[in-house]
Amino acid sequence: MRFLVAVLLLSFSVAGVGQTLVFEDVRLVDVDSNAVGDPVRLGVRNGFIVDAESIADPDLVVADTGYLIPGLAEMHAHVPPMRLGDALVQDTLMLYLAHGITTIRGMLGEPGHLTLRQQLASGEIIGPRLITSGPSFNGNSVSSPDAARQMVRAQTEAGYDLLKLHPGLWPEAFHAIAETAEALGIDYSGHISTAVGLDRTLASRQGSIDHLDGYGQKLVPEDHPLYGTDPGLFAVNLVEGMDKALIPELARRTAEAGIANVPTQSLLENWASGDVEALFEREAMRWVPAQTREQWRNAIDNIRARVPEGQGERFIEIRRALLAALHEAGATILLGADAPQILNVPGDAIHHELEIYVEVGMSPAEALATGTTNIARYLDQPAHGCLEAGCVADLVLLAGNPLSDIRNTRQIQGVMRAGQWVDRERLDAELDAIAERASQ
Ligand SMILES: [Zn+2]
Repeated sequence: MRFLVAVLLLSFSVAGVGQTLVFEDVRLVDVDSNAVGDPVRLGVRNGFIVDAESIADPDLVVADTGYLIPGLAEMHAHVPPMRLGDALVQDTLMLYLAHGITTIRGMLGEPGHLTLRQQLASGEIIGPRLITSGPSFNGNSVSSPDAARQMVRAQTEAGYDLLKLHPGLWPEAFHAIAETAEALGIDYSGHISTAVGLDRTLASRQGSIDHLDGYGQKLVPEDHPLYGTDPGLFAVNLVEGMDKALIPELARRTAEAGIANVPTQSLLENWASGDVEALFEREAMRWVPAQTREQWRNAIDNIRARVPEGQGERFIEIRRALLAALHEAGATILLGADAPQILNVPGDAIHHELEIYVEVGMSPAEALATGTTNIARYLDQPAHGCLEAGCVADLVLLAGNPLSDIRNTRQIQGVMRAGQWVDRERLDAELDAIAERASQ
């Protein structure tokens, strides 16, 4: 009988269901109150946090002392298309997880990602929880308002979690998307098309504005020669005409509209500022396949050529000022870096993003909130982003206190996703294997 029970437990633990685990002597990081508690015992059963005293004989005890935070979310992530192969998809998912990310919002979905979402939810594939958009709504994919309505209905029926807006939409199509999505109760988020503009977006119930898109045009005063001219990607053509004095009002209006922002600031900083070679020499680049590195090399040369001479630093500075103002105004910021877009290595990029948030004036606790409690509120999922009994056991164990230095979010001793514990040794083995595959 004992033997049978042991066998059952083993098969359960492989599937990640039913496993019980106790963390000994962990300090819980309370993001909301900006405080770290005294060491406690914390129990996990069936993928949820429970009172440790209710577990008499845990399957696993984690005795490492450290700081426990809720798992992070990357709200502007990309999952590679399935046609690029299972290995690349699973390596990408593992990179997210190994960097403490237990939820990703895939911002360019496809039917295969719906299956993947299920495989991740069941523990069949180890990786973060996947929230996925459907295929893109843009000027090419949406031919008319009727076609837009039809697309919204089809994607909602297919089971996608949200709709992804890309550039090129006309106001009529945007309104058709918004109206149908609101009627069906599905989120629509992403870019702001030039013809749609920030004003229409703030008057809508769009979930999130990604990349701080749409603000740049509104920072050019009406009497400036650049006003109303082709903004280029993220308004990079308009940098010379932007007036920072207009930022606070836009931030205030965003907070009032209740629309969140996913800044993906690290992506834009890769594009426009600093030393490109230093970016290519980052240690995290070892996990990037040679072919992708090559693509990034070509893309970055191309993009930098489009940033007006000498305007890169100012572009970044204005975006940072906008991010700071949005935060000060009380607008919701959701953590998102846009990996694996150019020079944003999945997982690693989110830590750069967090560091930027602190550099613009958030406290480390506020920066952590963008990836934890803010996400739970945005998604209306109160069992996420928390560390109490009843919360989903999506956790990251850190060696150092992230409230004293945000860079301590990189000191990961292990990650738990829905009760499945992946310790440092296993993470290192996975990361080494990814680096090995990437080098071939
Ligand atoms: Zn993206």
